[in-house]
Amino acid sequence: MVRVRFAPSPTGYLHIGSARTALFNWLYARHYGGKFLLRIEDTDKTRSEKKYLDEILTDLRWLGLDWDEEPIYQSERFDVYRASAEELVRSGKAYREGEAYIFRIEKGRTITFDDMIHGKVSVNTDDIKDQVLIKSDGSPAYNFCCVIDDAFLNITHIIRGDDHISNTPKQILFYEALGLQSPQFGHMPLIMGQDGAKLSKRHGGVAVEEYKRQGFLPESLVNYLLLLGWSPGDDRQIISLSEAVKIFDIKDMRGVQAKFDLQKLRWMNGEYIAAKKTSELLPLIKKQIADAAKEIPPDDKLAKVIDLYKVRIKTLSEFIPMTDHFFSDVYTVEEKGVEKYLKPAESKMILRQFADRIESLSEFSHENLEKTCRTLAEEKGLKTAQIIHPTRVAISGKTTGAGLFEMMEVLGKEKVLERLRMAQGA
Ligand code: GLU
Repeated sequence: MVRVRFAPSPTGYLHIGSARTALFNWLYARHYGGKFLLRIEDTDKTRSEKKYLDEILTDLRWLGLDWDEEPIYQSERFDVYRASAEELVRSGKAYREGEAYIFRIEKGRTITFDDMIHGKVSVNTDDIKDQVLIKSDGSPAYNFCCVIDDAFLNITHIIRGDDHISNTPKQILFYEALGLQSPQFGHMPLIMGQDGAKLSKRHGGVAVEEYKRQGFLPESLVNYLLLLGWSPGDDRQIISLSEAVKIFDIKDMRGVQAKFDLQKLRWMNGEYIAAKKTSELLPLIKKQIADAAKEIPPDDKLAKVIDLYKVRIKTLSEFIPMTDHFFSDVYTVEEKGVEKYLKPAESKMILRQFADRIESLSEFSHENLEKTCRTLAEEKGLKTAQIIHPTRVAISGKTTGAGLFEMMEVLGKEKVLERLRMAQGA
């Protein structure tokens, strides 16, 4: 049975690259009906923190990556590592230097393994130094406890980032010395920024948490990470996790570039937001508003505005600045739009005429508003744009947004007239 693991160190938030590692291990397990396990690599007691662990587990759940069995903690297994190190000293494969245990590397050998993603990889042991097993402070070295735990958990496949490829020959030597069978290894290309440099904050953020806060949906983040290293073999972009589980094949990971493209992620997130029901978005938008320490509007009004804007926002956090004019009289105003569309005397006249006409509407519906606008344009020999642009700036302060007449309907007659009148005096 396939058994894979994700082995985070709780010394920081969940990195987007680690989330992708977790995702591919999870996919591999779910595709083959195997198990996906968690191992907490908290050997560095001073840098490991409970708050980071909680955050990592919360983020994994948020992404939909559920795990099997109870996680194991390396900090609870120091005795096990020491016992194995002593065993290696007794059999002459390791020696001690003070408190430290060191593994002796036999020179002149070639270690070869068949990487699931890279194919054959060979390393000569002449290029490997003797390896620390247990450091003099009593804590185990990563390569050693990793092997002991992977064997203990009966891990069959290890899928991790390319940054670990140089560790693998050392780990293979430990398996051999301990009389254990090596699992299969697969190393994924690291995620790079568009400029080819290692992913960093300036490429849009490195922690899953940051994306969550900005209002990326877990479905789109996972979908995006999926395509950062794997392709379904055609040019499909929108693939759900459940679909990916069915069609995932690690062979398709070969040669796929892993360049982080924030614009593509934003596009994808926009697609997922637009496809959601307003009732599903409502609690998510309310959370954004609460987090921004703003007053939460009544559900019915908020739902109407979400209906209008869900096809326009790329992240949930964009909703607030784009729609502030619906919920308060204090909203952002594009000064350039005011200059261009509200300052000219002609605009003021048009706004007055439009305001006069809509004042007498008994039903303030977007259909009626549009009809009124068209009739006015025809009668005065205007283009509808000459009415629409100033009106939009007058009632929202913005030059872009949802359809003007829908927006007016949601704002309501009183507010619209108030703002149209005010704009004439501007
Ligand atoms: N804690 C290691 C890391 O986060 C795990 C490496 C591995 O998967 O073996 O890089």
